[in-house]
Amino acid sequence: MNNKAIFLDRDGVINKRLIGDYVKNIEEFEILPKVKDALIEFKKMGYLLIVITNQQGIAKGVMTEDDLKVVHEYMLKQLPEIDDIYYCPHLDGTCDCRKPKNGMLLKAKEKWNIDFNKSWMIGDSESDIICGRSSGCKTIRILHNNEDTEADFVTKSLFECVEIIKNNK
Ligand SMILES: [Mg+2]
Ligand SMILES: [Zn+2]
Repeated sequence: MNNKAIFLDRDGVINKRLIGDYVKNIEEFEILPKVKDALIEFKKMGYLLIVITNQQGIAKGVMTEDDLKVVHEYMLKQLPEIDDIYYCPHLDGTCDCRKPKNGMLLKAKEKWNIDFNKSWMIGDSESDIICGRSSGCKTIRILHNNEDTEADFVTKSLFECVEIIKNNK
């Protein structure tokens, strides 16, 4: 259990979220400003970068698992700093992996030998924060408005997380 990781929610953190819709293809996948710079800084600090994303649109039939794989291949091409991706394709309440549950974090921990106490979860939903906190990670919530949160820190963008993590190792 020696590695440290930053677990990253996808929609609203790495790419622009589509309110009330799912990102179904690369045309809808728009990387947010300075995300690449942030990921490069995180790598310099020695973190594994692992995307943890709920993609219920698959179970709802809005998109297929293959559609999601195309989007993720595109994401990795643009952002090769990302080490791994875990997604939950299931409906709410039918699995142990949909955030705020932490099944995806446990899988990543097993594969990558991650110490949660040295790791972070960054997301823009409270379910990300609950998932990270319940696992023992420090948490940062990216706020779109001024939502209430139990997160340890709040920011407006992924790049702003760089200073927070540098100062709170
Ligand atoms: Mg999100
Ligand atoms: Zn699931």
